[in-house]
Amino acid sequence: MRAPRPKLADTPAETPVRLLAPNVLVRFQHAREHTLARHERSILAGKVSQAIRWDTSREALKSPSADPSTGQVVVSEVFMAYLWAVAYALLVIDQEGYRRPLITGRYAGEIDFTEPVLAEARDLFFWAMGLRRAFSDWPAHLPAPGRARVVEGVDYTGVTNGLFTDAAAYLLFHEYAHLVHDHWNVVGPIRAKRAHGARITGEEREILKQLETEADVDAREALLVSEDPDGVQLSRGLAIVIAHAAALLAVARPSGLRQDEHPDVDSRLVNAIYALTPDEVGQRDVFWTVASLACDLFLQANGLGMQTGPAETGEELLRRYLAEFDRVKSSKVLP
Ligand SMILES: [Zn+2]
Repeated sequence: MRAPRPKLADTPAETPVRLLAPNVLVRFQHAREHTLARHERSILAGKVSQAIRWDTSREALKSPSADPSTGQVVVSEVFMAYLWAVAYALLVIDQEGYRRPLITGRYAGEIDFTEPVLAEARDLFFWAMGLRRAFSDWPAHLPAPGRARVVEGVDYTGVTNGLFTDAAAYLLFHEYAHLVHDHWNVVGPIRAKRAHGARITGEEREILKQLETEADVDAREALLVSEDPDGVQLSRGLAIVIAHAAALLAVARPSGLRQDEHPDVDSRLVNAIYALTPDEVGQRDVFWTVASLACDLFLQANGLGMQTGPAETGEELLRRYLAEFDRVKSSKVLP
């Protein structure tokens, strides 16, 4: 007897972010003039395979990863949906909840979430946070890649689509760097040792952290160099900050901020900003304010909200959050 054919309902339906999958792949291949040529060399050398595996299974959040056995970078659609939602929320809350009120003199030291556009952005953010525990459908009434949201002439869906595409490409380049630099040759034996119950040494831990930093640098340089025009510095720079903010927000509980094998996610976020030549005050101070907002939302989502008080610059504001993160990390009774 032949096995019954699977019913259509068994195939996971697409989430709205699938619309942008081709954009992500094109950005990954053509981010810079040399990107495609490098990719072809890596394929010829047998270091990577042609394909990126776009995993459509509907599971809880799983960050992109490199699979050394197939030479593929594996991307989960649920993570991509999460990344889009986080990018939208950070952008809209920063711009509409903070910058616009500041310019028009309405900012009262706190974000007014009774504004519908902000309430919506916050709802989308908390839906994304829920994906850390279990998959749930994208709420039909909230912003999504194919649903326009225009506020006073700014098309936030369009801007988010662009930021998301660069942020996703950045995360793919990070995993790709692990493959092309043969990091697995170093990481594999250390992980195997630990899997057999042995403790990894301080030196080994440092090596693992260095490889992560190397992959971050590689990913940044695949998207952005200092000679790029200002507009590119701003948009791709912000996308890189958002990618790191999403990594931070994906940490399931505060104790997860302390990382053994990776540099701590908050350190990676601030290191990424310093590498991007942010402005103290100016267009590129958005790197600081968006990162600060991500820290604030992380603390709120974990019941650890703090009052920062007014800060002179975005950098100073982020420093206050990082000091708070250090306090959280050094606490012995972390949830
Ligand atoms: Zn990595």
